[in-house]
Amino acid sequence: MPLADLKASLLLETTSKHEAAPASMGMQKTQYDMALEQFQRAADLMKLDPNVQEILRKPRRILSINFPVKMDDGRIILYQGFRSQHNNALGPYKGGIRFHPNVTIDEVKALSMWMTWKCAVAGIPFGGAKGGVTVNPKILSHAELERLSRSFFSLISEIVGPFRDIPAPDVYTDSQTMAWFMDEYSKNDRNNPFAVVTGKPLIIGGSLGRDSATGRGVSINIEEAARHMKIDLKKATCAIQGFGNVGSFTHMFLEEAGVKVVAVSDSKGGIHKKTGIWFNDVSAHKKKTGSITNLPGGENITNEELLELDVDILVPAALEDVITEKNAPKIRAKLVAEGANGPTTPEADDILFKKDITLIPDILANSGGVSTSYLEWVQNLQHLYWSAEEVDQRLKAIMKKAFAEVWKTSQEYNVDMRTGAYVYAIAKVTSAMKIRGWV
Ligand code: NAD
Repeated sequence: MPLADLKASLLLETTSKHEAAPASMGMQKTQYDMALEQFQRAADLMKLDPNVQEILRKPRRILSINFPVKMDDGRIILYQGFRSQHNNALGPYKGGIRFHPNVTIDEVKALSMWMTWKCAVAGIPFGGAKGGVTVNPKILSHAELERLSRSFFSLISEIVGPFRDIPAPDVYTDSQTMAWFMDEYSKNDRNNPFAVVTGKPLIIGGSLGRDSATGRGVSINIEEAARHMKIDLKKATCAIQGFGNVGSFTHMFLEEAGVKVVAVSDSKGGIHKKTGIWFNDVSAHKKKTGSITNLPGGENITNEELLELDVDILVPAALEDVITEKNAPKIRAKLVAEGANGPTTPEADDILFKKDITLIPDILANSGGVSTSYLEWVQNLQHLYWSAEEVDQRLKAIMKKAFAEVWKTSQEYNVDMRTGAYVYAIAKVTSAMKIRGWV
């Protein structure tokens, strides 16, 4: 590919997945604006010390690097990457690294801030961080991707480490990327520093149960909410947007809990079947046809229609900004569980709350992933590995406690669960900062 075309595609080519960055949706607010707005709501409500607010509004440190990568044909391309470390009062920084053309410093800042709250809500001893490289990894060869991953990690190694900052996979990075990262780090460390990243392959210190952990966490949160809301899950219906890692495992675990999943979707569209969609049937159909649409016995629907179905439970598990002030008045579910990060805008939050719809926010609902990353880190440090059942039990205990604390806080303040989760998380981070003498 000529250099000019390559550069253009690096910048412009987006993929169906995760392509809805706010700018591409024509939205005014950036994700960082949204993160700040959510923070401010909670800070005002809890009359948070202005000195604490001053510190928490911005990441502690952002490393921004331009680094060269040699392509297979000998050319050098300069890539841009970031690592944002928001706050580490509660423990070492923790957060994923994404490779995507839409990665910006602003996005990484917002995501690092959300990680601080997510870890605090889950009660795991980590602070918040996030990283990314502005690249479309789909057009790189395996060898180019390996060189890019190793270069990036070698450069951020200055600020990461098993007790400083522990990255993990995120959009378009996976266990292979983590294996390269860990190996690159081991060259300087001269040990086998498995605990420097999580989400690794099992053979080099990954944890059983990590793959399904986020979906399992979403399902546990729904079970807890149903108990409080007196929803009988055996009679409940559910629609799930997104049939990737989070959406598909959520489907599987909800089905096990007796919920009838009546609609699912992916980037190509959705399917609605009132008699229920079995997880095994839709998985096999997607494997065979490459899509979940046209599932026998079902009716094809759009992703927008799926969100507005008359169901008890709605799980947005694909993209950000899908529930907005436009469609929030038409949402009919009693319970919304955010499998995805940032699917609901602050305006939509208000509308849903007024309609008495309970929303389990992303920083609680999808925290099963980072919680199991924590369990992986603990196993690495102790060199003792647990069975899948032990990991699942520990995850369940973490999720149930987190849900109970957030539920209690939102009842106490009479606010939606997102604000309750923020108040709970900010209070924890604040006490750690105060006792450490930072404010
Ligand atoms: P994934 O790539 O495995 O799946 C994404 C799914 O969304 C796919 O089924 C894809 O077809 C679908 N999709 C893409 N564009 C769509 C569109 N326009 N409309 C409907 N569906 C569309 O990703 P994932 O790991 O399941 O992540 C999904 C969300 O969950 C993201 O917001 C991610 O940040 C968040 N999340 C993931 C984890 C995790 O452990 N995987 C943890 C926390 C949060």
